[in-house]
Amino acid sequence: MQVRGGLVLDMKSMNRVLAVTDDHIEVEAGAGWDVVLMAATERGRTPPIVTDWLKVSVGGTLSMGGFGFMSFWRGTQMDHVLELEVVTGTGEVIRCSSHHHQDLFDAVRGTHGTFGIITRAWIPLEAAPNKVRLVQASYGSIRAMMSDIENHTRARSADLIHAFAARKTRQSIVTKMNSTETMPLDEEKVDKALLEVPGQWVYNLELVDFIGGPHGETHELVDPAKLNCEEGLVHAWEMDWTSFCFRVPPLVLEEQFRGAAPHPELCAWVPMDAEGLSLLEAEFDRLRPVEDIGDGPVLFFPLKTDVVSAPWFRLPRAECCFFWGLLRRADPATPERISELMADNEAVFDRVLRAGGERYLPDTPPEDLAFWKRHFGPIWPQLVQARNRWDPDGLFQSSFGVFLHSDST
Ligand SMILES: Cc1cc2nc3c(=O)[nH]c(=O)nc-3n(C[C@H](O)[C@H](O)[C@H](O)COP(=O)(O)OP(=O)(O)OC[C@H]3O[C@@H](n4cnc5c(N)ncnc54)[C@H](O)[C@@H]3O)c2cc1C
Repeated sequence: MQVRGGLVLDMKSMNRVLAVTDDHIEVEAGAGWDVVLMAATERGRTPPIVTDWLKVSVGGTLSMGGFGFMSFWRGTQMDHVLELEVVTGTGEVIRCSSHHHQDLFDAVRGTHGTFGIITRAWIPLEAAPNKVRLVQASYGSIRAMMSDIENHTRARSADLIHAFAARKTRQSIVTKMNSTETMPLDEEKVDKALLEVPGQWVYNLELVDFIGGPHGETHELVDPAKLNCEEGLVHAWEMDWTSFCFRVPPLVLEEQFRGAAPHPELCAWVPMDAEGLSLLEAEFDRLRPVEDIGDGPVLFFPLKTDVVSAPWFRLPRAECCFFWGLLRRADPATPERISELMADNEAVFDRVLRAGGERYLPDTPPEDLAFWKRHFGPIWPQLVQARNRWDPDGLFQSSFGVFLHSDST
Protein backbone atom coordinates (compact mmCIF):
# COMPACT_ATOMS: atom_id res chain seq x y z
CA MET A 1 0.00 0.00 0.00
CA GLN A 2 1.14 3.49 -0.77
CA VAL A 3 -0.13 6.89 0.26
CA ARG A 4 -0.37 10.03 -1.82
CA GLY A 5 1.62 12.89 -0.27
CA GLY A 6 2.06 11.13 3.08
CA LEU A 7 4.50 8.94 4.97
CA VAL A 8 4.94 5.21 4.51
CA LEU A 9 6.13 3.36 7.61
CA ASP A 10 8.24 0.29 6.95
CA MET A 11 6.99 -1.94 9.76
CA LYS A 12 9.40 -4.74 8.94
CA SER A 13 11.86 -3.46 11.56
CA MET A 14 9.23 -4.44 14.16
CA ASN A 15 9.17 -8.15 13.40
CA ARG A 16 10.11 -9.91 16.63
CA VAL A 17 8.37 -12.84 18.24
CA LEU A 18 8.07 -11.71 21.87
CA ALA A 19 6.58 -14.83 23.45
CA VAL A 20 5.14 -18.14 22.36
CA THR A 21 3.24 -20.79 24.31
CA ASP A 22 1.02 -23.64 23.16
CA ASP A 23 -2.01 -21.34 23.41
CA HIS A 24 -0.86 -18.09 21.86
CA ILE A 25 1.93 -16.09 20.27
CA GLU A 26 2.82 -12.47 20.97
CA VAL A 27 4.47 -10.70 18.02
CA GLU A 28 5.37 -7.25 16.83
CA ALA A 29 2.92 -6.31 14.09
CA GLY A 30 5.54 -5.91 11.34
CA ALA A 31 6.29 -9.66 11.59
CA GLY A 32 5.20 -11.69 8.59
CA TRP A 33 2.79 -14.58 8.99
CA ASP A 34 5.73 -16.76 7.90
CA VAL A 35 7.44 -15.85 11.19
CA VAL A 36 4.27 -16.64 13.16
CA LEU A 37 3.74 -19.94 11.39
CA MET A 38 7.32 -21.13 11.85
CA ALA A 39 7.33 -20.31 15.57
CA ALA A 40 3.98 -22.07 15.97
CA THR A 41 4.68 -25.19 13.92
CA GLU A 42 7.93 -25.80 15.81
CA ARG A 43 5.60 -26.67 18.72
CA GLY A 44 3.06 -28.55 16.57
CA ARG A 45 0.72 -25.53 16.72
CA THR A 46 -0.74 -23.19 14.10
CA PRO A 47 -2.63 -19.90 13.94
CA PRO A 48 -6.28 -20.71 13.04
CA ILE A 49 -6.33 -18.66 9.82
CA VAL A 50 -3.50 -18.67 7.31
CA THR A 51 -3.44 -16.48 4.17
CA ASP A 52 -2.29 -17.96 0.86
CA TRP A 53 0.93 -15.88 0.99
CA LEU A 54 2.80 -15.71 4.26
CA LYS A 55 5.01 -12.71 3.58
CA VAL A 56 2.22 -10.27 4.37
CA SER A 57 2.49 -8.72 7.83
CA VAL A 58 0.36 -9.39 10.89
CA GLY A 59 -0.54 -5.67 11.17
CA GLY A 60 -1.22 -5.47 7.42
CA THR A 61 -3.75 -8.31 7.25
CA LEU A 62 -5.47 -7.40 10.54
CA SER A 63 -5.91 -3.92 9.03
CA MET A 64 -7.31 -5.35 5.80
CA GLY A 65 -9.11 -8.64 6.56
CA GLY A 66 -6.90 -11.70 6.48
CA PHE A 67 -8.79 -14.49 4.74
CA GLY A 68 -7.59 -18.04 4.30
CA PHE A 69 -9.06 -21.01 2.52
CA MET A 70 -10.53 -22.09 5.89
CA SER A 71 -12.30 -18.74 6.35
CA PHE A 72 -15.60 -20.00 4.96
CA TRP A 73 -16.33 -21.73 8.25
CA ARG A 74 -13.86 -20.12 10.66
CA GLY A 75 -13.74 -16.40 9.89
CA THR A 76 -10.73 -14.18 9.32
CA GLN A 77 -7.49 -13.28 11.05
CA MET A 78 -9.37 -10.20 12.35
CA ASP A 79 -11.71 -12.61 14.17
CA HIS A 80 -8.90 -14.68 15.67
CA VAL A 81 -6.86 -12.16 17.61
CA LEU A 82 -6.76 -12.05 21.40
CA GLU A 83 -5.39 -8.58 21.96
CA LEU A 84 -3.70 -5.70 20.12
CA GLU A 85 -1.36 -2.90 21.08
CA VAL A 86 -2.16 0.26 19.12
CA VAL A 87 -0.48 3.66 18.85
CA THR A 88 -3.26 6.15 18.11
CA GLY A 89 -3.10 9.51 16.36
CA THR A 90 -3.35 11.14 19.79
CA GLY A 91 -0.09 9.46 20.78
CA GLU A 92 -1.69 7.06 23.24
CA VAL A 93 -0.35 3.49 23.42
CA ILE A 94 -3.37 1.30 24.21
CA ARG A 95 -3.84 -2.43 24.63
CA CYS A 96 -7.27 -3.42 23.42
CA SER A 97 -9.35 -6.56 23.01
CA SER A 98 -12.97 -7.68 22.92
CA HIS A 99 -13.02 -7.10 26.72
CA HIS A 100 -10.92 -3.99 27.13
CA HIS A 101 -11.05 -0.78 25.04
CA GLN A 102 -13.33 -2.66 22.67
CA ASP A 103 -14.15 0.54 20.73
CA LEU A 104 -10.52 0.82 19.61
CA PHE A 105 -10.24 -2.95 19.02
CA ASP A 106 -13.26 -2.73 16.70
CA ALA A 107 -12.04 0.46 15.06
CA VAL A 108 -8.61 -0.82 13.99
CA ARG A 109 -9.62 -4.20 12.56
CA GLY A 110 -10.18 -3.99 8.79
CA THR A 111 -9.81 -0.22 8.53
CA HIS A 112 -6.45 0.14 6.77
CA GLY A 113 -4.48 1.89 9.52
CA THR A 114 -6.88 4.84 9.60
CA PHE A 115 -7.18 5.21 13.38
CA GLY A 116 -3.84 3.96 14.67
CA ILE A 117 -0.81 1.78 14.10
CA ILE A 118 -1.01 -1.78 15.36
CA THR A 119 2.36 -2.41 16.97
CA ARG A 120 1.81 -5.73 18.74
CA ALA A 121 -0.62 -8.65 18.45
CA TRP A 122 -1.52 -11.65 20.60
CA ILE A 123 -2.70 -14.44 18.30
CA PRO A 124 -4.26 -17.72 19.48
CA LEU A 125 -2.62 -21.00 18.51
CA GLU A 126 -4.16 -24.44 18.18
CA ALA A 127 -3.03 -27.94 17.23
CA ALA A 128 -1.74 -28.06 13.66
CA PRO A 129 -3.03 -30.87 11.45
CA ASN A 130 -0.44 -33.62 10.99
CA LYS A 131 -0.94 -33.35 7.27
CA VAL A 132 -3.50 -32.39 4.66
CA ARG A 133 -5.10 -34.30 1.81
CA LEU A 134 -5.65 -32.24 -1.34
CA VAL A 135 -8.13 -32.99 -4.11
CA GLN A 136 -7.74 -30.87 -7.24
CA ALA A 137 -10.29 -30.99 -10.05
CA SER A 138 -10.62 -29.15 -13.36
CA TYR A 139 -13.93 -27.90 -14.78
CA GLY A 140 -15.00 -26.55 -18.16
CA SER A 141 -18.08 -24.90 -16.66
CA ILE A 142 -18.11 -22.25 -13.97
CA ARG A 143 -21.63 -23.36 -13.02
CA ALA A 144 -20.48 -26.94 -12.36
CA MET A 145 -17.55 -25.78 -10.25
CA MET A 146 -19.59 -23.29 -8.24
CA SER A 147 -22.15 -26.01 -7.53
CA ASP A 148 -19.42 -28.23 -6.01
CA ILE A 149 -18.04 -25.25 -4.06
CA GLU A 150 -21.49 -24.37 -2.74
CA ASN A 151 -22.28 -27.92 -1.66
CA HIS A 152 -19.02 -28.30 0.24
CA THR A 153 -19.33 -24.83 1.76
CA ARG A 154 -22.87 -25.21 3.04
CA ALA A 155 -22.28 -28.76 4.30
CA ARG A 156 -18.79 -27.83 5.61
CA SER A 157 -17.65 -31.09 4.10
CA ALA A 158 -14.05 -29.95 3.46
CA ASP A 159 -11.63 -28.03 5.68
CA LEU A 160 -10.25 -25.66 3.06
CA ILE A 161 -11.71 -24.55 -0.28
CA HIS A 162 -10.09 -22.48 -3.01
CA ALA A 163 -10.38 -22.19 -6.77
CA PHE A 164 -9.10 -20.25 -9.72
CA ALA A 165 -9.85 -19.66 -13.36
CA ALA A 166 -7.04 -19.72 -15.89
CA ARG A 167 -6.47 -19.69 -19.62
CA LYS A 168 -7.52 -23.02 -21.15
CA THR A 169 -4.16 -24.74 -21.69
CA ARG A 170 -2.68 -28.12 -20.87
CA GLN A 171 -0.43 -26.48 -18.29
CA SER A 172 -3.38 -24.86 -16.48
CA ILE A 173 -5.10 -28.23 -16.18
CA VAL A 174 -2.17 -30.41 -15.11
CA THR A 175 -0.33 -28.02 -12.77
CA LYS A 176 -0.98 -28.29 -9.04
CA MET A 177 -2.46 -25.07 -7.70
CA ASN A 178 0.01 -22.71 -5.94
CA SER A 179 2.85 -24.86 -7.23
CA THR A 180 4.84 -25.66 -10.36
CA GLU A 181 4.49 -29.44 -9.91
CA THR A 182 2.25 -31.41 -12.22
CA MET A 183 -0.43 -34.03 -11.54
CA PRO A 184 -0.28 -37.43 -13.26
CA LEU A 185 -3.54 -36.98 -15.23
CA ASP A 186 -4.51 -39.22 -18.17
CA GLU A 187 -3.21 -37.40 -21.28
CA GLU A 188 -6.18 -38.50 -23.38
CA LYS A 189 -8.62 -37.04 -20.87
CA VAL A 190 -6.70 -33.75 -20.89
CA ASP A 191 -6.76 -33.67 -24.73
CA LYS A 192 -10.48 -34.40 -24.72
CA ALA A 193 -11.18 -31.53 -22.31
CA LEU A 194 -9.00 -29.13 -24.31
CA LEU A 195 -11.01 -30.04 -27.41
CA GLU A 196 -14.50 -30.08 -25.93
CA VAL A 197 -14.55 -27.39 -23.25
CA PRO A 198 -16.09 -24.26 -24.82
CA GLY A 199 -14.57 -20.79 -24.43
CA GLN A 200 -11.12 -19.70 -23.32
CA TRP A 201 -11.21 -20.61 -19.60
CA VAL A 202 -10.78 -23.63 -17.34
CA TYR A 203 -11.70 -23.58 -13.64
CA ASN A 204 -9.60 -25.41 -11.07
CA LEU A 205 -10.95 -26.34 -7.66
CA GLU A 206 -8.96 -27.42 -4.61
CA LEU A 207 -10.71 -29.12 -1.68
CA VAL A 208 -8.52 -29.95 1.31
CA ASP A 209 -9.07 -32.20 4.33
CA PHE A 210 -7.12 -31.90 7.57
CA ILE A 211 -5.68 -35.23 8.61
CA GLY A 212 -5.01 -35.67 12.32
CA GLY A 213 -5.98 -32.11 13.19
CA PRO A 214 -8.39 -30.71 15.75
CA HIS A 215 -11.27 -30.34 13.28
CA GLY A 216 -10.69 -32.98 10.59
CA GLU A 217 -12.61 -35.75 12.25
CA THR A 218 -15.97 -33.97 11.86
CA HIS A 219 -16.62 -35.00 8.26
CA GLU A 220 -15.82 -37.65 5.68
CA LEU A 221 -12.87 -37.12 3.37
CA VAL A 222 -13.76 -35.42 0.08
CA ASP A 223 -14.65 -38.07 -2.49
CA PRO A 224 -13.05 -37.17 -5.87
CA ALA A 225 -15.52 -39.47 -7.67
CA LYS A 226 -18.44 -37.28 -6.57
CA LEU A 227 -17.16 -34.05 -8.13
CA ASN A 228 -18.83 -32.70 -11.29
CA CYS A 229 -15.51 -31.94 -12.97
CA GLU A 230 -14.40 -32.91 -16.48
CA GLU A 231 -13.99 -36.66 -16.74
CA GLY A 232 -10.67 -37.86 -15.35
CA LEU A 233 -9.38 -34.39 -14.47
CA VAL A 234 -9.09 -34.96 -10.75
CA HIS A 235 -6.23 -36.02 -8.53
CA ALA A 236 -5.64 -36.46 -4.77
CA TRP A 237 -2.41 -36.37 -2.74
CA GLU A 238 -1.08 -35.50 0.72
CA MET A 239 1.33 -32.90 2.13
CA ASP A 240 2.51 -31.81 5.56
CA TRP A 241 0.89 -28.67 6.99
CA THR A 242 3.96 -26.41 6.88
CA SER A 243 4.77 -27.25 3.25
CA PHE A 244 1.12 -26.66 2.37
CA CYS A 245 1.10 -23.23 4.01
CA PHE A 246 4.37 -22.19 2.39
CA ARG A 247 3.13 -22.88 -1.14
CA VAL A 248 3.42 -19.91 -3.49
CA PRO A 249 0.21 -18.24 -4.72
CA PRO A 250 -0.32 -17.75 -8.47
CA LEU A 251 0.30 -13.99 -8.48
CA VAL A 252 3.74 -14.48 -6.92
CA LEU A 253 4.56 -17.42 -9.21
CA GLU A 254 3.54 -15.29 -12.18
CA GLU A 255 5.95 -12.52 -11.13
CA GLN A 256 8.74 -15.05 -10.56
CA PHE A 257 8.38 -16.25 -14.15
CA ARG A 258 7.41 -13.07 -15.97
CA GLY A 259 8.94 -10.30 -13.83
CA ALA A 260 7.28 -7.64 -11.71
CA ALA A 261 4.39 -5.67 -13.19
CA PRO A 262 1.57 -3.39 -12.03
CA HIS A 263 -1.53 -5.34 -11.00
CA PRO A 264 -4.70 -3.25 -11.27
CA GLU A 265 -6.79 -5.74 -9.33
CA LEU A 266 -10.47 -6.00 -8.59
CA CYS A 267 -11.39 -7.97 -5.46
CA ALA A 268 -15.07 -8.41 -4.74
CA TRP A 269 -17.51 -10.38 -2.62
CA VAL A 270 -20.25 -11.86 -4.78
CA PRO A 271 -23.38 -13.39 -3.22
CA MET A 272 -23.54 -17.16 -3.67
CA ASP A 273 -26.97 -17.20 -5.33
CA ALA A 274 -28.58 -17.35 -8.78
CA GLU A 275 -27.83 -13.70 -9.53
CA GLY A 276 -24.20 -14.03 -8.46
CA LEU A 277 -23.77 -17.10 -10.63
CA SER A 278 -25.36 -15.43 -13.68
CA LEU A 279 -23.03 -12.48 -13.19
CA LEU A 280 -20.01 -14.79 -13.17
CA GLU A 281 -21.14 -16.63 -16.29
CA ALA A 282 -21.65 -13.38 -18.17
CA GLU A 283 -18.28 -11.98 -17.05
CA PHE A 284 -16.36 -15.10 -18.04
CA ASP A 285 -18.08 -15.03 -21.45
CA ARG A 286 -16.85 -11.46 -21.90
CA LEU A 287 -13.40 -11.49 -20.25
CA ARG A 288 -10.49 -12.87 -22.24
CA PRO A 289 -7.68 -14.44 -20.18
CA VAL A 290 -4.80 -12.78 -22.03
CA GLU A 291 -6.20 -9.55 -23.48
CA ASP A 292 -8.24 -8.53 -20.41
CA ILE A 293 -6.48 -10.18 -17.47
CA GLY A 294 -2.90 -10.18 -18.80
CA ASP A 295 -2.82 -13.96 -18.22
CA GLY A 296 -2.97 -13.32 -14.49
CA PRO A 297 -4.99 -15.52 -12.15
CA VAL A 298 -8.64 -15.12 -11.23
CA LEU A 299 -9.23 -16.40 -7.70
CA PHE A 300 -12.26 -17.65 -5.78
CA PHE A 301 -12.91 -18.79 -2.25
CA PRO A 302 -16.21 -19.15 -0.42
CA LEU A 303 -17.33 -17.42 2.79
CA LYS A 304 -20.26 -17.76 5.16
CA THR A 305 -20.84 -14.14 6.13
CA ASP A 306 -21.88 -14.79 9.75
CA VAL A 307 -18.39 -16.00 10.68
CA VAL A 308 -16.89 -12.51 10.28
CA SER A 309 -17.27 -10.48 13.47
CA ALA A 310 -15.11 -7.37 12.85
CA PRO A 311 -17.96 -4.83 12.83
CA TRP A 312 -16.67 -2.40 10.22
CA PHE A 313 -15.81 -5.01 7.61
CA ARG A 314 -18.30 -4.80 4.72
CA LEU A 315 -19.82 -7.96 3.25
CA PRO A 316 -22.90 -8.73 1.13
CA ARG A 317 -26.21 -9.28 2.92
CA ALA A 318 -26.24 -12.93 1.90
CA GLU A 319 -25.74 -16.05 3.98
CA CYS A 320 -22.91 -17.19 1.71
CA CYS A 321 -20.74 -15.32 -0.75
CA PHE A 322 -17.45 -15.86 -2.49
CA PHE A 323 -14.32 -13.84 -2.99
CA TRP A 324 -13.71 -13.12 -6.66
CA GLY A 325 -10.31 -11.65 -7.45
CA LEU A 326 -9.38 -10.45 -10.94
CA LEU A 327 -5.62 -10.26 -10.35
CA ARG A 328 -4.98 -8.47 -13.63
CA ARG A 329 -1.50 -7.82 -14.94
CA ALA A 330 -0.98 -4.60 -16.89
CA ASP A 331 0.88 -5.58 -20.04
CA PRO A 332 2.26 -3.26 -21.37
CA ALA A 333 2.91 -1.61 -18.00
CA THR A 334 1.92 1.86 -19.17
CA PRO A 335 -0.24 4.43 -17.32
CA GLU A 336 -2.78 4.21 -20.18
CA ARG A 337 -3.11 0.43 -19.86
CA ILE A 338 -3.41 0.67 -16.06
CA SER A 339 -6.17 3.30 -16.44
CA GLU A 340 -8.04 1.11 -18.96
CA LEU A 341 -7.95 -1.89 -16.63
CA MET A 342 -8.98 0.19 -13.62
CA ALA A 343 -11.91 1.62 -15.59
CA ASP A 344 -13.02 -1.88 -16.56
CA ASN A 345 -12.68 -2.97 -12.90
CA GLU A 346 -15.15 -0.27 -11.88
CA ALA A 347 -17.55 -1.25 -14.69
CA VAL A 348 -17.42 -4.86 -13.48
CA PHE A 349 -17.81 -3.71 -9.89
CA ASP A 350 -20.97 -1.74 -10.79
CA ARG A 351 -22.45 -5.02 -11.97
CA VAL A 352 -21.23 -6.76 -8.81
CA LEU A 353 -22.96 -4.06 -6.74
CA ARG A 354 -26.20 -4.54 -8.65
CA ALA A 355 -25.98 -8.27 -7.86
CA GLY A 356 -25.71 -7.39 -4.15
CA GLY A 357 -21.92 -7.71 -3.85
CA GLU A 358 -19.30 -5.71 -1.97
CA ARG A 359 -15.61 -4.85 -2.33
CA TYR A 360 -12.52 -6.35 -0.65
CA LEU A 361 -10.00 -3.55 -0.60
CA PRO A 362 -6.43 -4.75 -0.92
CA ASP A 363 -7.20 -4.14 -4.61
CA THR A 364 -7.01 -0.91 -6.64
CA PRO A 365 -9.95 1.25 -5.55
CA PRO A 366 -10.78 4.62 -7.10
CA GLU A 367 -9.51 7.64 -5.20
CA ASP A 368 -12.75 9.43 -4.48
CA LEU A 369 -14.98 10.25 -1.53
CA ALA A 370 -18.16 8.91 -3.17
CA PHE A 371 -16.63 5.44 -3.53
CA TRP A 372 -15.70 5.23 0.14
CA LYS A 373 -18.97 6.71 1.42
CA ARG A 374 -20.90 4.13 -0.56
CA HIS A 375 -18.61 1.37 0.66
CA PHE A 376 -19.15 2.12 4.34
CA GLY A 377 -22.76 3.28 3.84
CA PRO A 378 -24.62 3.79 7.13
CA ILE A 379 -21.52 3.42 9.30
CA TRP A 380 -19.66 6.38 7.73
CA PRO A 381 -20.70 8.73 10.61
CA GLN A 382 -19.27 6.21 13.11
CA LEU A 383 -15.97 6.32 11.24
CA VAL A 384 -15.98 10.11 11.44
CA GLN A 385 -16.60 9.85 15.20
CA ALA A 386 -13.74 7.38 15.55
CA ARG A 387 -11.50 9.76 13.62
CA ASN A 388 -12.44 12.57 16.03
CA ARG A 389 -11.58 10.34 18.98
CA TRP A 390 -8.43 8.54 17.82
CA ASP A 391 -6.89 10.82 15.21
CA PRO A 392 -8.36 14.32 15.47
CA ASP A 393 -5.39 15.97 13.75
CA GLY A 394 -5.54 13.66 10.75
CA LEU A 395 -2.10 12.09 11.02
CA PHE A 396 -3.20 8.82 9.41
CA GLN A 397 -4.42 9.41 5.91
CA SER A 398 -3.95 6.00 4.34
CA SER A 399 -6.62 4.61 2.02
CA PHE A 400 -10.03 6.15 2.93
CA GLY A 401 -8.44 8.09 5.83
CA VAL A 402 -7.77 11.01 3.54
CA PHE A 403 -11.51 11.27 2.70
CA LEU A 404 -12.55 10.86 6.30
CA HIS A 405 -10.51 13.91 7.14
CA SER A 406 -11.68 16.00 4.19
CA ASP A 407 -15.37 15.18 4.73
CA SER A 408 -17.11 17.48 7.17
CA THR A 409 -20.27 15.31 7.60
C1 LIG B 1 0.66 -12.13 -2.97
C2 LIG B 1 -0.44 -11.70 -2.07
C3 LIG B 1 -1.30 -12.65 -1.54
C4 LIG B 1 -2.33 -12.24 -0.70
N1 LIG B 1 -3.15 -13.18 -0.17
C5 LIG B 1 -4.13 -12.81 0.66
C6 LIG B 1 -4.96 -13.78 1.30
O1 LIG B 1 -4.80 -14.99 1.11
N2 LIG B 1 -5.94 -13.34 2.12
C7 LIG B 1 -6.13 -12.01 2.36
O2 LIG B 1 -7.02 -11.67 3.13
N3 LIG B 1 -5.37 -11.09 1.80
C8 LIG B 1 -4.38 -11.46 0.95
N4 LIG B 1 -3.62 -10.50 0.35
C9 LIG B 1 -3.94 -9.09 0.61
C10 LIG B 1 -3.34 -8.69 1.93
O3 LIG B 1 -4.14 -9.08 3.01
C11 LIG B 1 -3.23 -7.19 2.01
O4 LIG B 1 -2.54 -6.74 0.88
C12 LIG B 1 -2.52 -6.80 3.28
O5 LIG B 1 -2.78 -5.48 3.55
C13 LIG B 1 -1.05 -7.04 3.12
O6 LIG B 1 -0.36 -6.73 4.28
P1 LIG B 1 0.98 -5.86 4.18
O7 LIG B 1 1.75 -6.28 5.34
O8 LIG B 1 1.61 -6.01 2.84
O9 LIG B 1 0.30 -4.45 4.36
P2 LIG B 1 0.49 -3.12 3.54
O10 LIG B 1 0.14 -3.36 2.12
O11 LIG B 1 1.79 -2.53 3.86
O12 LIG B 1 -0.65 -2.26 4.21
C14 LIG B 1 -1.99 -2.52 3.92
C15 LIG B 1 -2.87 -1.54 4.69
O13 LIG B 1 -2.84 -1.83 6.07
C16 LIG B 1 -2.30 -0.74 6.77
N5 LIG B 1 -1.33 -1.29 7.72
C17 LIG B 1 -0.26 -2.07 7.46
N6 LIG B 1 0.37 -2.39 8.61
C18 LIG B 1 -0.32 -1.79 9.60
C19 LIG B 1 -0.16 -1.73 11.01
N7 LIG B 1 0.83 -2.36 11.62
N8 LIG B 1 -1.04 -0.99 11.71
C20 LIG B 1 -2.06 -0.35 11.12
N9 LIG B 1 -2.25 -0.37 9.78
C21 LIG B 1 -1.40 -1.08 9.03
C22 LIG B 1 -1.65 0.17 5.77
O14 LIG B 1 -1.79 1.52 6.16
C23 LIG B 1 -2.45 -0.09 4.52
O15 LIG B 1 -3.62 0.69 4.47
C24 LIG B 1 -2.55 -10.87 -0.44
C25 LIG B 1 -1.67 -9.91 -0.98
C26 LIG B 1 -0.62 -10.32 -1.78
C27 LIG B 1 0.29 -9.27 -2.32
